[in-house]
Amino acid sequence: MSGMRILFVSSEVYPYSKTGGLGDVAGALPAALVRLGHEVLVVSPWYQTLRARSAPLWIGDVDVPFDGGFSSCGVGTLEREGVRYAFVGHSDFRRSALYGFADDVRRFCLFSRAVPQVAARVDFVPDVIHVNDWHSAYLTMILAQGWHLPEGFPGLPSVYTVHNVQHQGSSEIESTLYWLRLPGALRESYLNHFGAANAMQAALGFAQRVTTVSPNYAQEVQRPEYGYGLDGTFRHISHKLSGILNGLDTDVWNPATDPHIAQPYDTADLSGKAKAKAALCHHLWLEPERPLLAVVSRLADQKGIDILLAALAQLLEQGWNLAILGSGEGWMESLIHEATGQYPGRIGSFIGYDEDLAHQIYAGADALVIPSRFEPCGLSQLIAMRYGTLPIARATGGLKDTIQHDKTGFLFDHANTDGLLWASQWALRRYHGQTHWQAMLQEAMAADFSWDIAAKAYEAVYRQAQKDVGRV
Ligand code: ADP
Repeated sequence: MSGMRILFVSSEVYPYSKTGGLGDVAGALPAALVRLGHEVLVVSPWYQTLRARSAPLWIGDVDVPFDGGFSSCGVGTLEREGVRYAFVGHSDFRRSALYGFADDVRRFCLFSRAVPQVAARVDFVPDVIHVNDWHSAYLTMILAQGWHLPEGFPGLPSVYTVHNVQHQGSSEIESTLYWLRLPGALRESYLNHFGAANAMQAALGFAQRVTTVSPNYAQEVQRPEYGYGLDGTFRHISHKLSGILNGLDTDVWNPATDPHIAQPYDTADLSGKAKAKAALCHHLWLEPERPLLAVVSRLADQKGIDILLAALAQLLEQGWNLAILGSGEGWMESLIHEATGQYPGRIGSFIGYDEDLAHQIYAGADALVIPSRFEPCGLSQLIAMRYGTLPIARATGGLKDTIQHDKTGFLFDHANTDGLLWASQWALRRYHGQTHWQAMLQEAMAADFSWDIAAKAYEAVYRQAQKDVGRV
């Protein structure tokens, strides 16, 4: 089958910008699609907070239909690993952070409106457009209903991926349609969520196909506990909804080549893992002979860190030592500080974001605890397994899809201390009866979460979307 031209749209893309999993996906999936023989153009804003070494080549400006008139945006291009990039330059994106401003919806309406113009400017008329999360969600509606679109763009099929249903992009309807320069008749369309404009819901309605970042999450978002007000819409569009697991960047996360650890290791020789544990315990002032349970996480309600904190004393009683790396909610940070002082030799912690230490923890710990309330896919459990560190996780979202209980990790159902302590006790029994633990560790390390699997699944969804609009 011949390759497709895929336009991939994301509000962040690693290594140029990143605040979370979306940046990772946008950084890795396009390259995996190129390896399958497709042509991919990634369009993203160009922010002031640059992480990349290379700057794009600015090739000129485009006039973007916006806010009742036209707005001028710069177009910057570059190429990396066979993937083409076109960045949208505008003063609205030259701020201290990517998101978190009162006018975020308006800023990303401009971005969404700019995408077709920018793609056309670099002569890229795609076969399919892949839109991600709320920031570019209105693009699906623009393609279906918009005026002022470049030639070849009206009616193009779109695929929409939900990375986290908690953030939907809500704004006032009349202003939103005015910003987007879309017809007033759309007031009563999927854009309207109980009287407010909702970018995510618009995309659920207007995209040909919708995916979530794990199969289990695609089921969960159809339930009120997980849907954040959109569960009804998800149920309504369930005929075009599916889940595709995120992959893992196996070059960055590879215990056999990891430059952050003293002695790399693999399934054939795990001595490097024992060394990593000794070094980590030394670094965090922990007694080295106990089983070591680790946390590498945002300290947030979603991640269930409050559940972990409520169970700390009992986890220590069970025999675990704890290594905690995280940053986020102030009250959680303070509690971790306090507990570290209260239990010398048993709890070691670092509050902040530290990639180096994260690698050392994944390598040196025995188990990683992930008590999430919801988890669209989750990356940390994939990394942990690859490093032979068994995840102890809540059976939700992508955690449930990627961890096999008692085979590659441990799962518990209830997001409370009883659930967590039940699983940690089970894990500890396995740890002390070493044979089964070692077999699990081998199995976890051998699991394949490469991006190539995900890329093939997206390819199939793109083809379905093309068929839906009669383009193949
Ligand atoms: P989310 O994107 O919801 O935060 P994921 O599990 O998908 O959760 O991805 C989290 C990523 O961020 C992992 O790569 C994890 O190692 C990393 N991470 C989280 N907190 C820290 C921290 N304090 N220091 C370094 N890396 C961190």
